[in-house]
Order: sequence, then structure tokens, then C-alpha cells
Amino acid sequence: MKPPAFDYIRPASVVEALAALAAHDGSAKVIAGGQSLTPMLNFRLLAPTTLVDINGIAELDFIREQAGGGIVIGALTRHHRLMTASAVRDRFPILADALRHVAHLAIRNRGTIGGSLSHADPSAELPMMAVLLDATITLTGLSGDRDVAAADFFDSALTTVLAENELLTEVKLPALPPGAGWGFHEYAQRAGDFALAAAGVTLTSVGDRAVNVRLAVTGVDATPLRVAAAEAVLDGRTVDAGSIAAAVTEVRAAIHPTDDLRGSADYRRHLVGGLVARALEDAWRRARGRPGDAA
Ligand code: FAD
Repeated sequence: MKPPAFDYIRPASVVEALAALAAHDGSAKVIAGGQSLTPMLNFRLLAPTTLVDINGIAELDFIREQAGGGIVIGALTRHHRLMTASAVRDRFPILADALRHVAHLAIRNRGTIGGSLSHADPSAELPMMAVLLDATITLTGLSGDRDVAAADFFDSALTTVLAENELLTEVKLPALPPGAGWGFHEYAQRAGDFALAAAGVTLTSVGDRAVNVRLAVTGVDATPLRVAAAEAVLDGRTVDAGSIAAAVTEVRAAIHPTDDLRGSADYRRHLVGGLVARALEDAWRRARGRPGDAA
């Protein structure tokens, strides 16, 4: 199907884009990579009067390294650039690894971090990474910026706190604790498909105990979830069969998977437990610096 007719505006700055959105008062839509919006237009799930194309706004396309180990990512940063940037590979290897699972190269060449977070697909990897890595998301309107913690950004499936006349402009990732190990595991039916479920973990080790444990899952609820109860059972304990089983129990209790054509809720509940276990084992091994495992 073809999209409904729309007007097209290509602003050159954030201010121009915001003015265009305000002028259309809710009837315009931002287009970034177009990898999620275009199918929605073609299926006529949306019919904006105007598309505001932000691809010409150079000020939104950057990856900035922060002193101390954090990074700031501009909204227009493409998935492929993010995945291959040395700052990301060195400082947030889990993010580079998760991005390998986002669609195919052609889509990763166009899709943007701002588009993925704004679209808020409940199986997407970047929203989950934002939640896992304690990202702060900057939303910009004509009256200024507001910073929202990733944990507060996703309301429900395909719904966020982004207002109609705001742009998502940047994403800040604070440094991981020194020596953090990480693990990411995902299952999709075919390479490049959206995940049926995925799990991500970061942690550090003090002697034989895990500390600073963060654990997030996606594909098993309306939004990506940090599972605080699972983090709590692991914090201060060795990561072994017993603590992993306890964490998996907490994850399964916290999620609300649904049935769809690709899998039942029960299957997803089962699947995510295995993915959490593997992510924990990898994170623990990396945190302990076992030979042969890059951090
Ligand atoms: P667009 O499609 O341009 O926009 C998406 C939405 O975000 C629109 O509502 C738009 O108005 C809004 N928006 C965009 N940028 C901004 C901004 N800066 N401020 C405010 N609103 C904004 N994604 C995954 O995570 N995992 C996958 O496995 C995966 N598989 C895919 C497979 C296929 C075949 C396709 C076509 C897509 C897949 N995607 C997947 C989606 C892909 O990652 C998209 O790139 C991403 O979801 C949207 O990014 P975009 O830049 O293309 O956004």
C-alpha cells in the first residue's frame, strides 16, 4: 500500500524543526530513519498531514565521549555508526553487542537511536539498553530541554512521555563501574527479526560476590523492564546455579508476556529465564576476568 498524501518539511536546525511541529499542532510527525514510520504510513496506521524530516539537522548526529567514561549520543546517530564507534565498543561493549541484533545492515544504516526510543517497540533492543544502562533522555521543546530517566520514559507499548511538539535530541549514558562484566542474550526466530525475548546484565565482582548488578529484559512486557527484585537477590552473592535460579524466578514473576503469532506467553516466560541465566553467566565470567574473555 502507499502512504496517505502528506506535506514535507526538511528543517536545518532543531529550532526550525520545533517551529514546524508547533505550527502543525499535533498533526505533523517527525521522520528520522523512516524504518518504523514508513511501514506505519504504508499500512495507514498513521495519517499525519506533514512529515518533518530531521535528517538534515547535523547538530543531532554525534557521539561525544565524556570525561569519566560516559557518552552522549545525538538522536540522529544511526544504529550502524553506534555499533561500530570505538567509544561505544570500548565503553559500552554490551550496547555494541545488542545492536548486532537490530534488524539487518540496510536498516541499521538508516535507523536512528532517537527513532528507536521514540517508537518504543516492546521487543526493541535500544529501549532495553537505555533502561539497563540508566540512560538520561533529553527531550527538547520550544520552551527548552527536559531530561527524563529512561526508567520513566516508556509508558506502554509504542507509547512514551514524549510530547507531540517535542524532539528527542540526545541520550546520555553514564559510565559503567570500572571492571564491569556484561552479558546479552536474545532469541529471535530468524536473524534480524524482532526478539521474542532478550536479557541484558551488567555487574562487577568483589572477591567472589557480585555487586552493582543490573538486569533488564525485553519482549516480555509492554515496555523493557529492569527487574529490581532479581538484582536484589544477586547483589552480594556469588553468581552460581542457586542465585541464578533465584533471579530467574524473580524475573518470571515480574513480567507480563502476551500470546502472539510468534509465541505464547508461557513460551516467552520459559525462554526469558534461559536468556537471563546465560546473560548472568557471561557477565560474571567477564567481571571475573577469566582468560579468553574480552571485557
Ligand atoms: P522513524 O521510523 O523515522 O520514526 C519512528 C517514530 O519515532 C516515529 O513516530 C517518529 O515520529 C518518531 N521519531 C523519530 N525520531 C524522533 C526524534 N528525534 N524525536 C521525536 N520523535 C522521533 N528495531 C529493533 O530494535 N530491533 C529489530 O530487530 C528490528 N527489526 C526491524 C526489522 C525490519 C524489517 C524493520 C523495517 C525495522 C526493524 N526495526 C528493529 C526498527 C528499526 O530499528 C528502526 O530504525 C527504529 O525502530 C526506528 O528508527 P528510525 O530512525 O527509523 O525512526
